[in-house]
Amino acid sequence: MRLRWDAIRPSASARAAFLFTIKNELMPEYPLHNSPYFDVRELVDANTFKALSVNAAWLIDPKIVRVLDLLREKLGAPVVVNNWHTGGPFKSSGFRSMSDKTGAMFSQHRRGCAADVKVSGRTPQDVLSVINANFQEFKDAGLTTIEDVNFTPTWLHLDCRPVQIENQFRVVRP
Ligand SMILES: [Zn+2]
Repeated sequence: MRLRWDAIRPSASARAAFLFTIKNELMPEYPLHNSPYFDVRELVDANTFKALSVNAAWLIDPKIVRVLDLLREKLGAPVVVNNWHTGGPFKSSGFRSMSDKTGAMFSQHRRGCAADVKVSGRTPQDVLSVINANFQEFKDAGLTTIEDVNFTPTWLHLDCRPVQIENQFRVVRP
């Protein structure tokens, strides 16, 4: 006996339930501006997260999250900002509170619009090449400024400070 397609085809509600499940599995436990890849703990330190929990997202500019999402998609590989919540060493690579002694007092990290990214198996120069090859998309996402890679041997600093850019990102020294 041949099965008719309609007999084995899932109903619309079954398909909707399946898609909902898939989406839920992709959504982080502590969501961050609807990012499919990053949760709020990856952009704040443990003390800030302890104080604000999921509302720590209010300290993070959505623009830097869109930049990180785009980078994750272009690389097709995990992008690490903070990883303290999984036992890793990085805790000050996203938002920095005033009690955090890392970096400059008026760093863009204090405004929640900066990230120091690390990508396993890729040098900061590699990551920078991917960003420059997709200049317009990263610009549209809100990226304006990158720290000179000669000063950032194991990470790449990206931020969305409010400056005008034309045909290239602003490059600054840390
Ligand atoms: Zn930085």
